[in-house]
Amino acid sequence: MATETHCPYCSLQCGMRLTGRRAPEVSAWEEFPVNEGALCRKGWSAAGLYGGRERITSPLVRDRETGEWSAVTWDDALDRVVDGFRAAQAAKGPDGVAIFGGGGLTNEKAYALGKLARVALGTSQIDYNGRWCMSSAASAGIRAFGLDRGLPFPLADVEEADVLVLVGSNLAETMPPAARHLDRLRERGGRVVVVDPRRTPTADRADLHLQPVPGTDLALALGLLHLLVAGGAVDEAYLAERTTGWEQVRDSVAAWWPERVERVTGIDAHEVRALAAMLAGSPRVMVLTARGAEQHSTGSDTVLAWINVALALGMVGRRGAGYGCLTGQGNGQGGREHGQKADQLPGYRRIDDPAARAHVAGVWGVEPDSLPGPGRSAYELLDALGTPDGPSALLVLGSNIVVSAPNATHVTSRLESLDLLVVCDIVMSETAALADVVLPVTQWAEETGTMTNLEGRVVLRQKAITPPSGVRSDLDVIAGIAERLGSTASFPTDPEEVFAELGRASEGGPADYSAITYDRIRAEHGVFWGGERLFGESFAHPDGRARMLAVEHRGAAEQPCADYPVHLTTGRVLAQYQSGAQTRRTRSLPDDGPFVELHPLLAGRLGVATGQSVRVATRRGQMTAPARVVATIRPDTVFVPFHWVGANRLTNDALDPASRMPEFKVCAASVAHA
Ligand code: SF4
Repeated sequence: MATETHCPYCSLQCGMRLTGRRAPEVSAWEEFPVNEGALCRKGWSAAGLYGGRERITSPLVRDRETGEWSAVTWDDALDRVVDGFRAAQAAKGPDGVAIFGGGGLTNEKAYALGKLARVALGTSQIDYNGRWCMSSAASAGIRAFGLDRGLPFPLADVEEADVLVLVGSNLAETMPPAARHLDRLRERGGRVVVVDPRRTPTADRADLHLQPVPGTDLALALGLLHLLVAGGAVDEAYLAERTTGWEQVRDSVAAWWPERVERVTGIDAHEVRALAAMLAGSPRVMVLTARGAEQHSTGSDTVLAWINVALALGMVGRRGAGYGCLTGQGNGQGGREHGQKADQLPGYRRIDDPAARAHVAGVWGVEPDSLPGPGRSAYELLDALGTPDGPSALLVLGSNIVVSAPNATHVTSRLESLDLLVVCDIVMSETAALADVVLPVTQWAEETGTMTNLEGRVVLRQKAITPPSGVRSDLDVIAGIAERLGSTASFPTDPEEVFAELGRASEGGPADYSAITYDRIRAEHGVFWGGERLFGESFAHPDGRARMLAVEHRGAAEQPCADYPVHLTTGRVLAQYQSGAQTRRTRSLPDDGPFVELHPLLAGRLGVATGQSVRVATRRGQMTAPARVVATIRPDTVFVPFHWVGANRLTNDALDPASRMPEFKVCAASVAHA
């Protein structure tokens, strides 16, 4: 009998069927509305995760003297973990222990992890890799709309737009089943605009492709708004009725003439005018941002600038129009709603809100005053590890930090400075290889749990196969640690029981899951929290109005100079996912390794041809990889995919002041024949 479940990878959470108890086979689940049976190459290959010889099936401890690993019992491993945590807290207080979670963990795990930190350990030091995914869009959404839900409408609404502007998204390559909506939009006569420094497979489908200098998307939005104001295209009635702050925003774009936009972004002024004219004449304009716009030290202001464009046109809340963010990780949305984020409690509540603390403490059976306050953001937490004021023990779940952290050489040295590093994983990832204790856990089809996809649709991944003996679920690990720490709070290990508790803890919060059950999810093909479409009548601020906030172009933290004369940008390729810990081990997916994409003009100056080795260096490190000479990238920019060790040794750890998002997407680099 087939089990209906969802892909282990990206935020689309495509539905699929699995058959077979040991070596599952993937087949289409046509009735699931998000992907209608379509899957990308990663989804079709997902079952290849099983049967790999690299699977860890016993807890392992590493001898620091010899570097050798030994298999130990679960009791021994968990005792060692808890002894280490106690020692760290005895030396440094409750914040001596930190937790680093992941945007691919189920809602139940994210919730239990937050509870483990705040109740059993009493530490404020918890954050997760979703901070590096869409925190800039989340921060901007909360400020502008009073609420952050990546897409406040079903993805299929894209088809109803007359103009779709994709800013920094390559969805045709990163989530191919979603590209059908672009095709249907164009079949209807709608137009697609892509803003991206590279001509990607998504840009190939566009009616207009603008190729800005990396890090200048904000200036383009200011210039568009300038032209919309000058052309009388803004919706004054909507602005008066549904927003505040318009006058300041209008005044802030007065000097953004197209020629100034051209100087900053490198986009021809006539193309800026062409896009503004397209927007001005269209009844339904939709703007979607993704990591290309958001992973910047100006990421949240960039998103606010594009939200201002959508609001000024009166589009937000209108069907087939508005603003949304395309989340990346599988549970990028749910992962930030249930308490594994440094500043949040379950239900997307602020941890410094007394009413939220009282409610959640009541569900957990503890005193509100016993809960710690906000902790450090993801990069700041890693940067503090092993320092006199920072944690000396770290528990990692669902993250491969050594590959995915910015300025990764520095972060790796911080991990190496710890007294105790504990990693839960399925294989010996690059991060697990540094650990003192590795705990082997179940994954994807071996367990049940909910995910919240990029639309805010809560879906159910159902257990389809029997896990290998020797592994335990993350929920078991969390409960085992809590019990050994002597916590009096309960830590259930049945996912449905955890989900019910999560629902109670989230009740009344911005992301309220209290009316969602496993049975409803099964019956309804997923359940949207907050409703299918948001903002039709009002926004989530107390007065119901959206906030328009004036923002300024500042540019990237690093600009090209004599030593580092080009821009470096990073991103994904079709066959790999995130740090590659799973997809690089899936035999049916090609693993060609990293490469350096550069323009023929730059390659000619360097005397480099495709396939030859080039060295890319930044102020933080260097890497060597084969060149790919392509005319689809700006001549002043090079691109490296981030699925392998290397790219993030180069990236910049400059943080966005509001979201604490590192500037993954652009830094200054040098390139040379290796
Ligand atoms: Fe999986 Fe995303 Fe591919 Fe769908 S688009 S099959 S969710 S990786």
